Amino acid sequence: MTELTGTATAATLRELHWLMDMVHSLDAGLVILDRDQRVHLWNRFMENHSGIPAERILGRSLRTFFPDDPPPAWLDHKMRTVLDMNLPSFTIWRQRPYLFRFPPPRPFSSRAEHMYQNVTMLPLRSADTAVRHVGIILYDVTESALARHQLEEMNQALEKLSRTDRLTGLYNRGFWEECLEAEFRRFRRTRQPATLVLFDIDHFKQINDTWGHQAGDAVLRRLAQTTRESIRTTDIAGRYGGEEFAILLVDTEETRAVHLAERLRQAVERLEVPVEDGCIRFTISLGISQVREQVASPQEWIRCADLALYQAKHEGRNRYVVRPCTDCG
Ligand code: GH3
Ligand code: MG
Ligand code: MG
Repeated sequence: MTELTGTATAATLRELHWLMDMVHSLDAGLVILDRDQRVHLWNRFMENHSGIPAERILGRSLRTFFPDDPPPAWLDHKMRTVLDMNLPSFTIWRQRPYLFRFPPPRPFSSRAEHMYQNVTMLPLRSADTAVRHVGIILYDVTESALARHQLEEMNQALEKLSRTDRLTGLYNRGFWEECLEAEFRRFRRTRQPATLVLFDIDHFKQINDTWGHQAGDAVLRRLAQTTRESIRTTDIAGRYGGEEFAILLVDTEETRAVHLAERLRQAVERLEVPVEDGCIRFTISLGISQVREQVASPQEWIRCADLALYQAKHEGRNRYVVRPCTDCG
């Protein structure tokens, strides 16, 4: 009987040894804390990434070694929840990038400033069934977090690209029209004023014919730059067509839009665009229209501004015309 028990104990011990070997070679952090946050297990993963050997930290308070992170209040709360409710708790890197601030684990992930971690906290039952310890499993998820970040950056770049006009860097027509529709809906809800300025280069065909298409492109880029410099950050400027541009002035009455239009007209008139064999000067004509209650759609609003622009051309170019949105439906 004694011999049998002895054999059983030996087998149990051997199993325990194996288990501990596995615990230490696991590619995840394993930590056991008691209610006072004293450390009872600190596996090799934790030793390697923290630089703190198990024999130094075992039996001592975690706070002595990590005074700031994990933030004491946060960890206290988590521990209490796990212990009192006897339920596991999961924290992913999106909620909290790391529990312990460790350096990035591999050289090729050095783009990260630290290791990203997913964390599981488990209530551990003692032999008497009381729960007095918390087991922490810490997974290194740096590679997938970085890949995710990269993907998000690429998506942002793509999104920006998809709404930008290549030549001028202004919004393209599609995105600009979406903004116009949103602003129109906002006007319907709030009755906040909004004004549209459409403008078009005068005799641009002649510029192309005289100086060449490349020089024409330089003129378009320069006009876009001057437009950007003339508007506020809340104004929305886009390239509406070949040599036709549009500015949506949010929260702006016609009278204020006129100031902008005149300032822009004068700035363009003063521009000199240097090209290979000379210097191009040019002018623009502008149509202005504030949205009114009678306007049935964003398309109708554009039509008002377009009619004003047409009138400016007809009256001799290099000027602006204001057209109330009441007589163009
Ligand atoms: P108006 O004063 O009445 O506006 O006359 P305009 O010559 O400016 O107007 P028109 O519509 O006859 O000509 C516009 C020209 O713009 C024709 C087209 O080849 C040119 N254009 C359109 N897009 C581009 C572009 O991206 N680059 C260049 N260089 N030219 C362009
Ligand atoms: Mg033109
Ligand atoms: Mg045109």
